[in-house]
Amino acid sequence: MKRAIACLTIALFSVAMIFTPAVQAYSFVSTVPQSGGCPQPNSWNLSVSSPLDRQWSTSLPSLISPVILTVAAAGTSAQLDEIEQAISDSFSVWAGVTGTTFNAITFPGLEAPLARVTNANSCTNDAESNVDGLNTICFNQSSDAFTPGVLAFTRTFTANAPGASVGTSGPAAFAGQILDADTLLCNTGEVTFATPAALATSPGAYDLESLLTHELGHWMGLDHSAVIRAMMFPFAPPAGQFLGSRPTAQTPDGPLSDDDRTGIRVLYPDPNDTLNIGAIRGQILPANPFALAALPAPSMGSSVTGMVGAQVVALDADTGAIIAGVFSSGSCNASSPLTQFDGSYDLERLPVGHNYNLYAEPLVGIALPADFVVPGDLCSQDVTPSCTAPAANTNFNVRTLPAAP
Ligand SMILES: [Zn+2]
Repeated sequence: MKRAIACLTIALFSVAMIFTPAVQAYSFVSTVPQSGGCPQPNSWNLSVSSPLDRQWSTSLPSLISPVILTVAAAGTSAQLDEIEQAISDSFSVWAGVTGTTFNAITFPGLEAPLARVTNANSCTNDAESNVDGLNTICFNQSSDAFTPGVLAFTRTFTANAPGASVGTSGPAAFAGQILDADTLLCNTGEVTFATPAALATSPGAYDLESLLTHELGHWMGLDHSAVIRAMMFPFAPPAGQFLGSRPTAQTPDGPLSDDDRTGIRVLYPDPNDTLNIGAIRGQILPANPFALAALPAPSMGSSVTGMVGAQVVALDADTGAIIAGVFSSGSCNASSPLTQFDGSYDLERLPVGHNYNLYAEPLVGIALPADFVVPGDLCSQDVTPSCTAPAANTNFNVRTLPAAP
């Protein structure tokens, strides 16, 4: 879900939630510049000295009904330290991915201490739409957005023009620059979260590290993935379980999938990386043109000539491992900036030296088009000329062609 704020036309507002029934495909959210032009992926401006100051609210639920289970006793400073460690470790999971500029060495924001604030409303203190330019994690939150099954959600504010700012963010250097991110974890009285150390004895609790790592993926600019194993899959692991392997010094990004790693590399590519520089690009086209989704009126210059919203997955041909998945969507070029929904897909930052098999599938089954923003963020109704994105096309079957000899 993404919408412009009525009172603030310089920034866009994005909400991404993680749901549970207890139980792209990497993808990222894009911003259409206010001045027009092609959609730009949302990301932090790593060239400023402290791009991502972080804080969390230590306001926790009462001792009688703890929502966050820790090994340390509730209400003690040791409990705050244990929770804070889980937050820091969740950031480090993303910073541990090789082949990105997003790591503790080149990203000073992650070396700065995690600040503490005591205000329980630090994520909502501005009329439920916290636009203070501070990046905050808040527990024990109530919000209309906590519909049944929602455990946590993240809101980000993104500039749609250079110079835009919110609160203390400072002026943006580019359209698509993330200016503010806040994560809210629910307090329904029924859901509990546990730090990694406490999870083993709390099988009814949700793993705080898995949830936070997912939400912090949204901070980085990632949207949901349709790869079931991915950290950015829109559904949390069941209570009592965590995703992947716990981070270690040798494998700090252990909880992530290759799809997550590929996604963060695409957003923050290391120019010195010589390994993850492969790309596969193409289009998903229907055998029968009548299978194409229709554009909602008015289309204003765009057209649908390919399959939009198909999941395209690259497998390592030797191991069968999923390396990355993306959604087919559209293409755009500067001379004709309206997105053309031609079924283009673009798998970037693949490790070279491997052979890949591709498959495409409709978004049916566990994860549905409504769980993803693609391709809706490729158009902005605040920009002239505008376009209107078609609904994801789920009405197709995939035929497997015999392998070439
Ligand atoms: Zn999410």
